Amino acid sequence: MKRLMIDMDNCITDAYFMERINEYLNTNYKLNDQKDFYLQNLISKEKKGGFWNYMTTHTFYGDCPLLKDCYETLKILNQKYKLYIATAYLYEESNPDISGINLKEKYDYLKKYLPFISPKQYIFISDKNLIHSDIAIDDRICNLENSDKKLLMTAWHNKDIDDKELEKKGIKRVNTWMEILKELEGEE
Ligand SMILES: [Mg+2]
Repeated sequence: MKRLMIDMDNCITDAYFMERINEYLNTNYKLNDQKDFYLQNLISKEKKGGFWNYMTTHTFYGDCPLLKDCYETLKILNQKYKLYIATAYLYEESNPDISGINLKEKYDYLKKYLPFISPKQYIFISDKNLIHSDIAIDDRICNLENSDKKLLMTAWHNKDIDDKELEKKGIKRVNTWMEILKELEGEE
């Protein structure tokens, strides 16, 4: 069985990170208007510490929906591949405790919303390239390096990268879970 590594944030769910930033700043930023992967860069240096304190009592995930067709597709892929969910958790120098909170929330969310995937299949990691996979699905190019087949899930921060540039790196863009399912047909 081939090893399939799937990212969590912006592949499985979008989380409530942007919503929390807007709540805290009293702003109305839209995810799709952003270019920077690090949404926290929207927050000024002076307000950052306060924001991370705010996030110790407000949820990143909660009841955030799974992306469309994710549940059904993962159920199919989980039968055909050695499937792992590989996700990095936050680290903030000003508030290191946020890492533990984020980690626990990720664990609880995956367990609740994807109950057919065993916690043994979770990989909490910072540098995903430490692990080789046959197939990887991620919204960051830098996380696809150590995979034979590389699928880039479209997200706000990567949507302007053109297909030619991706092709040079051996990367295929996918926009939906239906596209992923089609792309993986016959791969097993
Ligand atoms: Mg991601």
